[in-house]
Amino acid sequence: MYKIIKSIRGMHDYLPEELKLWNYIENIIKEVLNSYCYLEIRLPILEKTEIFQRAIGNVTDIIEKEMYSFEDRKGSNITLRPEGTIGCVRAIIQNNLLYKKKQKFWYFGPMFRYERPQKGRYRQFYQFGAEVFGIDGEDIDLEIILLTYRIWKRLGLENNIILEINSIGSQLDRIKYKKKLIFFLKKYEYLLDEDCKRRLYTNPLRILDSKNKDVQEILTKAPLLNEYLDTASQNHFQSLCKMMDIHGIPYRHNKYLVRGLDYYSSTVFEWKNFELGSQNTICAGGRYDSLFEELNTNKISGIGFAIGMERLVLLMQKLNIFFPTVREVDIYIIIIGNHNTFHATALSEEIRNLYPKLKIFIDFSDDNISKKIKHAANILAPIAIFIGDNEIKKKCFLVKDLVHKKQYYILKSDILIKINHFFKIIK
Ligand code: ATP
Ligand code: MG
Repeated sequence: MYKIIKSIRGMHDYLPEELKLWNYIENIIKEVLNSYCYLEIRLPILEKTEIFQRAIGNVTDIIEKEMYSFEDRKGSNITLRPEGTIGCVRAIIQNNLLYKKKQKFWYFGPMFRYERPQKGRYRQFYQFGAEVFGIDGEDIDLEIILLTYRIWKRLGLENNIILEINSIGSQLDRIKYKKKLIFFLKKYEYLLDEDCKRRLYTNPLRILDSKNKDVQEILTKAPLLNEYLDTASQNHFQSLCKMMDIHGIPYRHNKYLVRGLDYYSSTVFEWKNFELGSQNTICAGGRYDSLFEELNTNKISGIGFAIGMERLVLLMQKLNIFFPTVREVDIYIIIIGNHNTFHATALSEEIRNLYPKLKIFIDFSDDNISKKIKHAANILAPIAIFIGDNEIKKKCFLVKDLVHKKQYYILKSDILIKINHFFKIIK
């Protein structure tokens, strides 16, 4: 017995049935992004390892343990992208896009992280991301939040996803705060888990993000980052909150919210659904005003977000949200007698020439006719056309209207007109 070769752990096949919902969601997200004039950008899946090391920060989950990195045949260090922002910033710099007044982008594609696979957490997963460059004011933070909120509304999820938002200030604010936080946490060091103990001296801010209940309890007494923000960051955040109120966007100011990656600053946010267990963040983002400098260029501000598609799909499925499906097949061609396949193909090509949008399925299987009709009905094909010796000889096809349960013979010369009537095709 041969052992069946399976896909790599944490990397999944996305099958046609499931992809109906994916396509529905993808189309809505693209429509919303288009309505805000964000431009699509497609980026390589592989980047040089150093770009992630430099920009993400060495003491983050991604760099410490999640990257798929390897040497190529010439010994260069390359990495399967764990996220999209850095590649996007690299592309903007490399292609001088900012000078061409192109500022708002979106991308969609797979990301790779070596994590422990579980529901909503995979090693290959898809993100829809958007990034905006060179706009400092809080209006763009508001736009990004309105845009994401509009996506949830379009998907019927606005009552199921809640926005958590915070400001993590400038790098200087965080340096001041880090000292205070370390001082405080040292008193409780013996109570911290191993991860937090390690982070205490390397990346203490990440402790605020801990999912450990005991650590969360200790943190309730910890000094808060927002007490250390400079006036500019405070004003930025307050003004953003005010504008969100005016636009009626519900949000929760989560003072413990920090983001996993080092490059964030000022506004950070996450859209969550608390019924999804610990994989509850559907979309995460924020400002990154120092990322460009990390990559050796002028200071250019940035803001972006990424939606985890698998988690969004899981939520839509969990909530049983209705979505319209598109018909798989319009015309189902049933061949009677194997030697008539040529005529079936010829007729379907003729139909496609005239009506390029119609979906025509030729059943090449050996199944008997009743099985073929059953299949046509199961996939909700509205019309079946039979092609057998008789039909070919008489140049007259049997057409079954599976919607109105009628059948009639139509001359080959009339069939294209009849199809037009049936599908009410307006050209
Ligand atoms: P988490 O805390 O859940 O690990 P993260 O902070 O690492 O998330 P980001 O880097 O902000 O995640 O990525 C943005 C979004 O991408 C997440 O909110 C989530 O929806 C999705 N995402 C991240 N990692 C995974 C994964 N391994 N599998 C599926 N989706 C993921
Ligand atoms: Mg993570």
